[in-house]
Amino acid sequence: MRRLRNVKIVATLGPASNDYDMIRSLTEAGANVFRLNMSHGEHGEIRERHAMIRKVEADLGRPIAILADLQGPKLRVGKFAEESYDLEVGAKFRLDLDDTPGDITRVQLPHTEIFAALKPGSNLLVNDGKIRLQVEDCGKDYANCVVTVGGMISNRKGVNVPDVVLPLAALSEKDLKDLEFVCDLGVDWLALSFVQRPEDVLQAKELAKGRAFILSKIEKPSAVTDFDAILAVSDGIMVARGDLGVELPVHAVPPIQKRLIRKCRAAAKPVIVATQMLESMIESPMPTRAEVSDVATAIYEGADAIMLSAESAAGDFPIEAVSTMNNVAMEVENDPVYLDVMDASRAGKKETIADAIVSAAREIAETTDVKAIVCYSESGTTAALTARERPHVPIIAMTSRARTARKLCLYWGMHCVITGEVDRFKMAVVNAARAARTCGFATEKDNIVVTAGVPFNVPGSTNILRVAPCDERLIFNTDPE
Ligand code: ATP
Ligand code: MG
Ligand code: MG
Repeated sequence: MRRLRNVKIVATLGPASNDYDMIRSLTEAGANVFRLNMSHGEHGEIRERHAMIRKVEADLGRPIAILADLQGPKLRVGKFAEESYDLEVGAKFRLDLDDTPGDITRVQLPHTEIFAALKPGSNLLVNDGKIRLQVEDCGKDYANCVVTVGGMISNRKGVNVPDVVLPLAALSEKDLKDLEFVCDLGVDWLALSFVQRPEDVLQAKELAKGRAFILSKIEKPSAVTDFDAILAVSDGIMVARGDLGVELPVHAVPPIQKRLIRKCRAAAKPVIVATQMLESMIESPMPTRAEVSDVATAIYEGADAIMLSAESAAGDFPIEAVSTMNNVAMEVENDPVYLDVMDASRAGKKETIADAIVSAAREIAETTDVKAIVCYSESGTTAALTARERPHVPIIAMTSRARTARKLCLYWGMHCVITGEVDRFKMAVVNAARAARTCGFATEKDNIVVTAGVPFNVPGSTNILRVAPCDERLIFNTDPE
Protein backbone atom coordinates (compact mmCIF):
# COMPACT_ATOMS: atom_id res chain seq x y z
CA MET A 1 0.00 0.00 0.00
CA ARG A 2 2.13 2.79 -1.31
CA ARG A 3 0.95 6.26 -0.43
CA LEU A 4 1.55 8.92 -3.03
CA ARG A 5 1.22 11.70 -0.54
CA ASN A 6 3.34 13.25 2.16
CA VAL A 7 0.91 14.90 4.55
CA LYS A 8 -0.54 12.44 7.07
CA ILE A 9 -4.21 11.88 7.89
CA VAL A 10 -5.41 11.47 11.48
CA ALA A 11 -8.92 10.00 11.84
CA THR A 12 -10.84 10.10 15.12
CA LEU A 13 -12.69 6.88 15.92
CA GLY A 14 -16.17 6.86 17.41
CA PRO A 15 -19.58 5.28 16.98
CA ALA A 16 -19.40 5.69 13.19
CA SER A 17 -16.09 3.86 12.97
CA ASN A 18 -16.22 1.21 15.59
CA ASP A 19 -15.61 -2.05 13.80
CA TYR A 20 -12.70 -3.84 12.20
CA ASP A 21 -13.96 -3.44 8.63
CA MET A 22 -14.45 0.30 8.98
CA ILE A 23 -11.03 0.83 10.58
CA ARG A 24 -9.48 -1.23 7.83
CA SER A 25 -11.33 0.70 5.11
CA LEU A 26 -10.28 4.01 6.66
CA THR A 27 -6.67 2.82 6.64
CA GLU A 28 -6.94 1.72 3.03
CA ALA A 29 -8.52 5.07 2.13
CA GLY A 30 -5.52 6.84 3.65
CA ALA A 31 -5.67 7.18 7.44
CA ASN A 32 -2.20 6.93 9.00
CA VAL A 33 -3.04 7.68 12.62
CA PHE A 34 -6.15 6.89 14.67
CA ARG A 35 -7.23 9.17 17.47
CA LEU A 36 -9.04 7.81 20.50
CA ASN A 37 -10.81 10.65 22.23
CA MET A 38 -10.83 9.88 25.96
CA SER A 39 -13.71 12.34 26.43
CA HIS A 40 -16.05 9.88 24.75
CA GLY A 41 -16.25 6.18 25.39
CA GLU A 42 -15.52 3.95 28.38
CA HIS A 43 -12.26 2.11 28.93
CA GLY A 44 -13.82 -1.12 27.64
CA GLU A 45 -14.65 0.49 24.29
CA ILE A 46 -11.24 2.14 24.06
CA ARG A 47 -9.58 -1.22 24.68
CA GLU A 48 -11.64 -2.83 21.90
CA ARG A 49 -10.84 -0.08 19.41
CA HIS A 50 -7.18 -0.30 20.30
CA ALA A 51 -7.18 -4.04 19.63
CA MET A 52 -8.96 -3.58 16.30
CA ILE A 53 -6.39 -1.02 15.14
CA ARG A 54 -3.52 -3.32 16.08
CA LYS A 55 -5.20 -6.14 14.19
CA VAL A 56 -5.61 -4.00 11.06
CA GLU A 57 -1.96 -3.00 11.42
CA ALA A 58 -0.86 -6.64 11.59
CA ASP A 59 -3.15 -7.73 8.75
CA LEU A 60 -2.05 -4.94 6.41
CA GLY A 61 1.58 -5.20 7.47
CA ARG A 62 2.13 -1.50 7.89
CA PRO A 63 2.64 0.55 11.04
CA ILE A 64 -0.29 2.64 12.29
CA ALA A 65 0.00 5.19 15.08
CA ILE A 66 -2.55 5.46 17.88
CA LEU A 67 -3.07 8.82 19.50
CA ALA A 68 -4.97 8.97 22.79
CA ASP A 69 -6.42 12.40 23.41
CA LEU A 70 -6.83 13.20 27.12
CA GLN A 71 -9.84 15.32 27.91
CA GLY A 72 -7.97 17.77 30.13
CA PRO A 73 -9.83 20.32 32.21
CA LYS A 74 -12.56 20.60 29.59
CA LEU A 75 -16.04 21.46 30.74
CA ARG A 76 -18.78 19.35 29.26
CA VAL A 77 -22.53 18.94 29.60
CA GLY A 78 -23.80 15.51 30.75
CA LYS A 79 -25.92 13.06 28.80
CA PHE A 80 -29.34 13.41 27.20
CA ALA A 81 -32.33 11.07 27.08
CA GLU A 82 -32.45 11.19 23.29
CA GLU A 83 -29.69 11.50 20.72
CA SER A 84 -29.92 15.25 20.21
CA TYR A 85 -32.15 18.27 20.69
CA ASP A 86 -32.53 21.40 18.62
CA LEU A 87 -32.27 24.46 20.86
CA GLU A 88 -34.07 27.42 19.37
CA VAL A 89 -33.18 31.07 19.82
CA GLY A 90 -35.14 32.62 22.67
CA ALA A 91 -35.86 29.29 24.39
CA LYS A 92 -35.07 28.81 28.09
CA PHE A 93 -32.46 26.20 28.98
CA ARG A 94 -31.37 25.19 32.45
CA LEU A 95 -28.01 23.78 33.55
CA ASP A 96 -27.76 22.01 36.91
CA LEU A 97 -25.94 19.27 38.84
CA ASP A 98 -28.70 16.65 38.49
CA ASP A 99 -27.46 13.63 36.52
CA THR A 100 -30.94 12.68 35.24
CA PRO A 101 -30.61 12.53 31.40
CA GLY A 102 -31.27 15.93 29.87
CA ASP A 103 -33.95 17.05 27.41
CA ILE A 104 -34.96 20.17 25.51
CA THR A 105 -35.39 22.14 28.75
CA ARG A 106 -32.30 21.20 30.78
CA VAL A 107 -29.12 19.17 31.13
CA GLN A 108 -26.52 18.38 33.76
CA LEU A 109 -23.35 20.48 33.87
CA PRO A 110 -21.22 18.50 36.34
CA HIS A 111 -18.87 21.31 37.36
CA THR A 112 -19.61 23.13 40.63
CA GLU A 113 -16.73 25.53 39.89
CA ILE A 114 -18.61 26.98 36.90
CA PHE A 115 -21.76 27.68 38.92
CA ALA A 116 -19.62 29.35 41.55
CA ALA A 117 -18.15 31.69 38.93
CA LEU A 118 -21.21 32.49 36.79
CA LYS A 119 -23.11 35.76 37.01
CA PRO A 120 -26.32 36.92 35.31
CA GLY A 121 -25.23 38.06 31.86
CA SER A 122 -22.35 35.51 31.56
CA ASN A 123 -22.15 33.67 28.24
CA LEU A 124 -21.68 29.93 27.88
CA LEU A 125 -20.52 28.60 24.52
CA VAL A 126 -21.43 25.00 23.68
CA ASN A 127 -19.94 22.68 21.03
CA ASP A 128 -16.98 24.75 19.86
CA GLY A 129 -19.11 27.90 20.17
CA LYS A 130 -21.91 26.75 17.87
CA ILE A 131 -24.56 27.30 20.57
CA ARG A 132 -24.60 30.32 22.86
CA LEU A 133 -26.44 30.52 26.19
CA GLN A 134 -26.77 33.63 28.32
CA VAL A 135 -27.27 33.30 32.06
CA GLU A 136 -30.44 34.98 33.38
CA ASP A 137 -30.23 33.88 36.98
CA CYS A 138 -28.03 31.39 38.77
CA GLY A 139 -27.12 29.86 42.11
CA LYS A 140 -24.51 27.48 43.47
CA ASP A 141 -26.01 24.45 41.68
CA TYR A 142 -27.97 25.80 38.71
CA ALA A 143 -28.07 28.41 35.96
CA ASN A 144 -31.21 29.39 34.07
CA CYS A 145 -30.21 30.53 30.61
CA VAL A 146 -31.74 31.85 27.43
CA VAL A 147 -30.57 30.52 24.07
CA THR A 148 -29.05 33.44 22.13
CA VAL A 149 -27.61 31.31 19.31
CA GLY A 150 -29.43 28.06 18.62
CA GLY A 151 -28.29 24.68 17.36
CA MET A 152 -28.17 20.94 18.00
CA ILE A 153 -27.06 19.84 21.45
CA SER A 154 -26.14 16.25 22.35
CA ASN A 155 -24.20 14.13 24.86
CA ARG A 156 -21.04 15.52 26.42
CA LYS A 157 -20.65 18.56 24.21
CA GLY A 158 -17.91 20.92 25.36
CA VAL A 159 -18.70 24.18 27.19
CA ASN A 160 -16.50 27.30 27.24
CA VAL A 161 -16.97 30.28 29.51
CA PRO A 162 -14.63 32.81 27.92
CA ASP A 163 -15.53 35.70 30.25
CA VAL A 164 -14.77 33.69 33.38
CA VAL A 165 -11.42 32.50 34.78
CA LEU A 166 -11.74 29.05 36.34
CA PRO A 167 -9.23 27.53 38.76
CA LEU A 168 -8.46 24.22 37.04
CA ALA A 169 -5.53 21.79 37.20
CA ALA A 170 -3.93 20.72 33.91
CA LEU A 171 -4.66 17.02 34.46
CA SER A 172 -7.93 16.10 36.16
CA GLU A 173 -8.52 12.95 38.22
CA LYS A 174 -10.03 11.39 35.12
CA ASP A 175 -6.98 12.32 33.03
CA LEU A 176 -4.63 10.66 35.51
CA LYS A 177 -6.65 7.44 35.33
CA ASP A 178 -6.95 7.64 31.55
CA LEU A 179 -3.24 8.32 31.14
CA GLU A 180 -2.29 5.23 33.13
CA PHE A 181 -4.86 3.16 31.27
CA VAL A 182 -3.75 4.11 27.74
CA CYS A 183 -0.04 3.96 28.56
CA ASP A 184 -0.56 0.43 29.82
CA LEU A 185 -2.61 -0.43 26.77
CA GLY A 186 0.19 0.84 24.54
CA VAL A 187 -0.52 4.01 22.58
CA ASP A 188 2.12 5.88 20.61
CA TRP A 189 1.05 9.47 21.19
CA LEU A 190 -0.66 11.12 24.12
CA ALA A 191 -2.40 14.42 23.36
CA LEU A 192 -2.79 16.89 26.23
CA SER A 193 -5.77 19.22 26.10
CA PHE A 194 -5.68 22.85 27.30
CA VAL A 195 -1.94 22.96 27.90
CA GLN A 196 -1.15 26.36 29.41
CA ARG A 197 2.47 26.10 30.56
CA PRO A 198 5.54 23.97 29.82
CA GLU A 199 5.16 22.50 33.33
CA ASP A 200 1.86 20.89 32.23
CA VAL A 201 3.76 18.98 29.56
CA LEU A 202 6.56 18.02 31.92
CA GLN A 203 4.05 16.66 34.41
CA ALA A 204 2.50 14.39 31.77
CA LYS A 205 5.95 13.31 30.58
CA GLU A 206 6.87 12.28 34.05
CA LEU A 207 3.69 10.22 34.40
CA ALA A 208 4.03 8.62 30.96
CA LYS A 209 7.57 7.48 31.81
CA GLY A 210 8.56 7.16 28.17
CA ARG A 211 5.62 4.91 27.31
CA ALA A 212 4.14 7.44 24.87
CA PHE A 213 5.24 10.61 23.10
CA ILE A 214 3.58 13.82 24.22
CA LEU A 215 1.62 16.04 21.88
CA SER A 216 0.48 19.43 23.19
CA LYS A 217 -2.88 20.73 22.00
CA ILE A 218 -2.70 24.47 21.56
CA GLU A 219 -6.15 25.79 22.41
CA LYS A 220 -5.55 28.35 25.17
CA PRO A 221 -4.38 31.94 24.66
CA SER A 222 -1.61 31.34 27.22
CA ALA A 223 -0.30 28.39 25.20
CA VAL A 224 0.00 30.66 22.19
CA THR A 225 1.87 33.26 24.20
CA ASP A 226 4.19 30.69 25.74
CA PHE A 227 4.44 28.54 22.61
CA ASP A 228 8.23 28.39 22.24
CA ALA A 229 8.71 27.02 25.75
CA ILE A 230 5.87 24.51 25.27
CA LEU A 231 7.25 23.35 21.92
CA ALA A 232 10.69 22.86 23.46
CA VAL A 233 9.37 20.23 25.90
CA SER A 234 6.75 18.61 23.62
CA ASP A 235 7.27 15.84 21.07
CA GLY A 236 4.55 17.20 18.80
CA ILE A 237 1.83 19.85 18.53
CA MET A 238 -1.84 20.03 17.60
CA VAL A 239 -3.40 23.29 16.46
CA ALA A 240 -6.73 22.57 18.19
CA ARG A 241 -8.81 25.15 16.36
CA GLY A 242 -12.12 24.23 18.01
CA ASP A 243 -11.44 25.56 21.46
CA LEU A 244 -8.81 28.01 20.24
CA GLY A 245 -11.46 29.73 18.11
CA VAL A 246 -13.71 30.08 21.15
CA GLU A 247 -11.06 31.20 23.61
CA LEU A 248 -9.77 33.74 21.08
CA PRO A 249 -11.67 35.53 18.30
CA VAL A 250 -12.02 33.12 15.33
CA HIS A 251 -10.14 35.48 13.05
CA ALA A 252 -7.08 35.20 15.28
CA VAL A 253 -6.76 31.49 14.46
CA PRO A 254 -5.37 31.47 10.87
CA PRO A 255 -2.22 33.50 11.58
CA ILE A 256 -1.59 31.42 14.71
CA GLN A 257 -1.94 28.24 12.65
CA LYS A 258 0.63 29.53 10.13
CA ARG A 259 3.09 30.58 12.80
CA LEU A 260 2.83 27.34 14.77
CA ILE A 261 3.34 25.20 11.68
CA ARG A 262 6.50 27.11 10.80
CA LYS A 263 7.93 26.80 14.27
CA CYS A 264 7.22 23.09 14.45
CA ARG A 265 8.92 22.45 11.15
CA ALA A 266 11.97 24.43 12.23
CA ALA A 267 12.09 22.32 15.40
CA ALA A 268 11.61 19.07 13.39
CA LYS A 269 8.53 18.20 15.46
CA PRO A 270 5.25 17.08 13.91
CA VAL A 271 2.22 19.38 13.85
CA ILE A 272 -1.44 18.43 13.30
CA VAL A 273 -4.07 20.90 12.09
CA ALA A 274 -7.39 19.90 13.64
CA THR A 275 -11.10 20.66 13.86
CA GLN A 276 -13.81 21.36 11.31
CA MET A 277 -11.57 20.57 8.36
CA LEU A 278 -14.44 18.86 6.53
CA GLU A 279 -17.25 19.58 9.00
CA SER A 280 -20.05 19.51 6.41
CA MET A 281 -19.06 15.93 5.54
CA ILE A 282 -20.57 14.80 8.84
CA GLU A 283 -23.83 14.92 6.91
CA SER A 284 -22.89 15.21 3.27
CA PRO A 285 -20.72 13.15 0.93
CA MET A 286 -19.47 16.37 -0.68
CA PRO A 287 -17.33 18.93 1.15
CA THR A 288 -17.83 22.65 0.73
CA ARG A 289 -15.35 24.56 -1.45
CA ALA A 290 -14.25 26.47 1.62
CA GLU A 291 -13.41 23.25 3.49
CA VAL A 292 -11.41 21.89 0.57
CA SER A 293 -9.55 25.17 0.50
CA ASP A 294 -8.89 24.97 4.26
CA VAL A 295 -7.42 21.47 3.93
CA ALA A 296 -5.30 22.63 0.99
CA THR A 297 -4.08 25.66 2.94
CA ALA A 298 -2.88 23.54 5.86
CA ILE A 299 -0.93 21.39 3.39
CA TYR A 300 0.56 24.40 1.59
CA GLU A 301 1.62 25.71 4.98
CA GLY A 302 3.63 22.53 5.52
CA ALA A 303 1.59 20.78 8.22
CA ASP A 304 2.69 17.22 9.00
CA ALA A 305 -0.87 16.01 9.46
CA ILE A 306 -4.49 17.01 8.99
CA MET A 307 -7.22 15.64 11.22
CA LEU A 308 -10.83 14.48 11.09
CA SER A 309 -12.90 14.72 14.30
CA ALA A 310 -16.62 14.09 14.18
CA GLU A 311 -16.39 13.53 10.40
CA SER A 312 -14.88 10.09 11.02
CA ALA A 313 -16.06 9.54 14.62
CA ALA A 314 -19.73 10.27 14.31
CA GLY A 315 -20.44 11.26 10.69
CA ASP A 316 -22.28 9.50 7.88
CA PHE A 317 -19.32 9.54 5.47
CA PRO A 318 -16.08 8.64 7.27
CA ILE A 319 -14.43 6.95 4.28
CA GLU A 320 -15.41 9.74 1.90
CA ALA A 321 -13.90 12.25 4.34
CA VAL A 322 -10.55 10.42 4.37
CA SER A 323 -10.61 10.08 0.57
CA THR A 324 -11.34 13.78 0.21
CA MET A 325 -8.29 14.65 2.30
CA ASN A 326 -6.22 12.19 0.32
CA ASN A 327 -7.33 13.67 -3.01
CA VAL A 328 -6.73 17.25 -1.91
CA ALA A 329 -3.26 16.26 -0.68
CA MET A 330 -2.31 14.60 -3.97
CA GLU A 331 -3.44 17.65 -5.92
CA VAL A 332 -1.61 20.16 -3.72
CA GLU A 333 1.58 18.16 -3.45
CA ASN A 334 1.82 17.84 -7.22
CA ASP A 335 1.54 21.60 -7.61
CA PRO A 336 4.94 23.18 -8.44
CA VAL A 337 3.94 26.10 -6.21
CA TYR A 338 3.79 23.70 -3.23
CA LEU A 339 7.32 22.49 -3.92
CA ASP A 340 8.52 26.09 -4.21
CA VAL A 341 6.87 27.02 -0.92
CA MET A 342 8.41 24.03 0.86
CA ASP A 343 11.85 24.98 -0.50
CA ALA A 344 11.50 28.64 0.38
CA SER A 345 10.38 27.96 3.95
CA ARG A 346 13.16 25.56 4.89
CA ALA A 347 14.54 26.82 8.20
CA GLY A 348 15.84 25.69 11.52
CA LYS A 349 19.17 25.44 13.25
CA LYS A 350 21.71 23.27 11.48
CA GLU A 351 24.67 22.43 13.59
CA THR A 352 25.18 18.67 13.73
CA ILE A 353 26.63 16.09 11.34
CA ALA A 354 23.15 14.60 11.03
CA ASP A 355 21.79 18.00 9.90
CA ALA A 356 24.46 18.22 7.23
CA ILE A 357 23.87 14.66 6.04
CA VAL A 358 20.09 14.94 5.69
CA SER A 359 20.48 18.22 3.88
CA ALA A 360 23.07 16.68 1.53
CA ALA A 361 20.76 13.68 0.98
CA ARG A 362 17.99 16.00 -0.16
CA GLU A 363 20.29 17.95 -2.46
CA ILE A 364 21.63 14.78 -4.06
CA ALA A 365 18.13 13.43 -4.51
CA GLU A 366 17.02 16.63 -6.17
CA THR A 367 20.09 17.15 -8.31
CA THR A 368 20.37 13.63 -9.65
CA ASP A 369 17.83 11.03 -10.62
CA VAL A 370 17.54 9.35 -7.24
CA LYS A 371 14.18 7.75 -6.44
CA ALA A 372 14.07 7.77 -2.63
CA ILE A 373 15.94 8.69 0.52
CA VAL A 374 16.22 5.71 2.84
CA CYS A 375 17.32 6.57 6.34
CA TYR A 376 18.20 4.21 9.14
CA SER A 377 16.84 5.75 12.29
CA GLU A 378 16.46 3.89 15.57
CA SER A 379 15.08 6.67 17.73
CA GLY A 380 13.49 8.50 14.80
CA THR A 381 15.59 11.64 15.19
CA THR A 382 17.35 11.41 11.84
CA ALA A 383 14.05 10.57 10.18
CA ALA A 384 12.51 13.69 11.71
CA LEU A 385 15.38 15.82 10.40
CA THR A 386 14.92 14.30 6.95
CA ALA A 387 11.20 15.11 7.03
CA ARG A 388 12.03 18.69 7.99
CA GLU A 389 13.95 19.01 4.72
CA ARG A 390 10.69 18.32 2.83
CA PRO A 391 12.58 16.58 -0.02
CA HIS A 392 10.92 16.11 -3.41
CA VAL A 393 11.46 12.32 -3.33
CA PRO A 394 9.87 9.79 -0.94
CA ILE A 395 11.51 9.13 2.44
CA ILE A 396 11.70 5.61 3.83
CA ALA A 397 12.61 5.24 7.49
CA MET A 398 14.20 1.91 8.39
CA THR A 399 14.07 0.96 12.04
CA SER A 400 14.15 -2.20 14.11
CA ARG A 401 11.75 -0.69 16.65
CA ALA A 402 7.99 -0.93 16.07
CA ARG A 403 7.62 1.94 18.50
CA THR A 404 9.71 4.26 16.32
CA ALA A 405 7.92 3.18 13.14
CA ARG A 406 4.56 3.95 14.73
CA LYS A 407 5.69 7.27 16.14
CA LEU A 408 6.91 8.34 12.71
CA CYS A 409 3.49 7.69 11.13
CA LEU A 410 2.59 11.20 12.23
CA TYR A 411 5.54 12.84 10.44
CA TRP A 412 5.40 14.41 7.01
CA GLY A 413 6.38 12.06 4.20
CA MET A 414 7.56 9.19 6.33
CA HIS A 415 7.16 5.63 5.02
CA CYS A 416 8.23 3.30 7.79
CA VAL A 417 9.70 -0.13 7.35
CA ILE A 418 10.60 -2.37 10.25
CA THR A 419 13.83 -4.25 9.56
CA GLY A 420 15.72 -6.87 11.47
CA GLU A 421 18.86 -5.59 13.13
CA VAL A 422 21.66 -5.08 10.65
CA ASP A 423 25.29 -5.09 11.66
CA ARG A 424 27.07 -4.39 8.40
CA PHE A 425 26.64 -1.41 6.12
CA LYS A 426 26.46 -3.58 3.00
CA MET A 427 23.45 -5.42 4.42
CA ALA A 428 21.89 -2.10 5.34
CA VAL A 429 22.18 -0.95 1.72
CA VAL A 430 20.75 -4.21 0.43
CA ASN A 431 17.78 -3.91 2.82
CA ALA A 432 17.29 -0.27 1.86
CA ALA A 433 17.20 -1.15 -1.83
CA ARG A 434 14.72 -3.94 -1.13
CA ALA A 435 12.50 -1.61 0.87
CA ALA A 436 12.56 1.01 -1.91
CA ARG A 437 11.56 -1.63 -4.44
CA THR A 438 8.90 -3.23 -2.23
CA CYS A 439 7.37 0.16 -1.46
CA GLY A 440 7.17 0.66 -5.22
CA PHE A 441 9.40 3.74 -5.27
CA ALA A 442 12.28 2.24 -7.25
CA THR A 443 13.12 -0.55 -9.67
CA GLU A 444 16.38 -2.43 -10.09
CA LYS A 445 17.53 0.20 -12.57
CA ASP A 446 17.19 3.09 -10.14
CA ASN A 447 19.42 4.68 -7.53
CA ILE A 448 18.60 5.62 -3.95
CA VAL A 449 20.33 7.59 -1.21
CA VAL A 450 20.97 5.68 2.02
CA THR A 451 21.87 7.40 5.29
CA ALA A 452 22.88 5.59 8.45
CA GLY A 453 25.08 5.67 11.51
CA VAL A 454 27.97 3.22 11.61
CA PRO A 455 28.92 1.19 13.48
CA PHE A 456 25.35 -0.14 13.80
CA ASN A 457 23.78 -0.85 17.19
CA VAL A 458 25.92 1.80 18.85
CA PRO A 459 23.91 4.79 19.94
CA GLY A 460 25.10 7.82 18.08
CA SER A 461 24.19 9.89 15.15
CA THR A 462 24.01 9.49 11.44
CA ASN A 463 27.45 9.75 9.87
CA ILE A 464 27.30 8.05 6.49
CA LEU A 465 25.63 8.77 3.17
CA ARG A 466 25.74 6.46 0.17
CA VAL A 467 24.22 6.78 -3.29
CA ALA A 468 23.44 3.18 -4.08
CA PRO A 469 21.99 1.19 -6.94
CA CYS A 470 18.86 -0.83 -6.28
CA ASP A 471 20.29 -3.81 -8.12
CA GLU A 472 21.62 -6.13 -5.43
CA ARG A 473 24.34 -7.65 -7.65
CA LEU A 474 25.79 -4.19 -8.09
CA ILE A 475 25.69 -3.51 -4.36
CA PHE A 476 27.58 -6.71 -3.63
CA ASN A 477 30.17 -5.94 -6.27
CA THR A 478 30.85 -2.38 -5.34
CA ASP A 479 30.14 -1.82 -1.68
CA PRO A 480 32.61 -1.88 1.15
CA GLU A 481 31.68 -4.11 4.07
P1 ATP B 1 -12.08 17.80 21.71
O1 ATP B 1 -12.28 19.14 22.28
O2 ATP B 1 -11.13 17.00 22.53
O3 ATP B 1 -11.76 17.81 20.27
P2 ATP B 1 -14.75 16.99 20.98
O4 ATP B 1 -15.91 16.74 21.87
O5 ATP B 1 -14.78 18.14 20.06
O6 ATP B 1 -13.46 17.01 21.88
P3 ATP B 1 -13.96 15.36 18.74
O7 ATP B 1 -13.33 14.04 18.85
O8 ATP B 1 -13.15 16.48 18.21
O9 ATP B 1 -14.57 15.67 20.18
O10 ATP B 1 -15.25 15.30 17.82
C1 ATP B 1 -15.97 14.17 17.74
C2 ATP B 1 -17.46 14.37 17.94
O11 ATP B 1 -18.03 13.11 17.64
C3 ATP B 1 -17.82 14.69 19.39
O12 ATP B 1 -18.20 16.01 19.59
C4 ATP B 1 -18.98 13.75 19.71
O13 ATP B 1 -20.22 14.39 19.56
C5 ATP B 1 -18.92 12.67 18.66
N1 ATP B 1 -18.55 11.41 19.31
C6 ATP B 1 -19.39 10.56 19.85
N2 ATP B 1 -18.78 9.49 20.34
C7 ATP B 1 -17.49 9.64 20.13
C8 ATP B 1 -16.34 8.87 20.44
N3 ATP B 1 -16.39 7.68 21.03
N4 ATP B 1 -15.14 9.37 20.11
C9 ATP B 1 -15.04 10.56 19.51
N5 ATP B 1 -16.11 11.31 19.19
C10 ATP B 1 -17.33 10.88 19.49
MG1 MG C 1 -10.66 20.54 22.12
MG1 MG D 1 -13.10 18.70 18.71
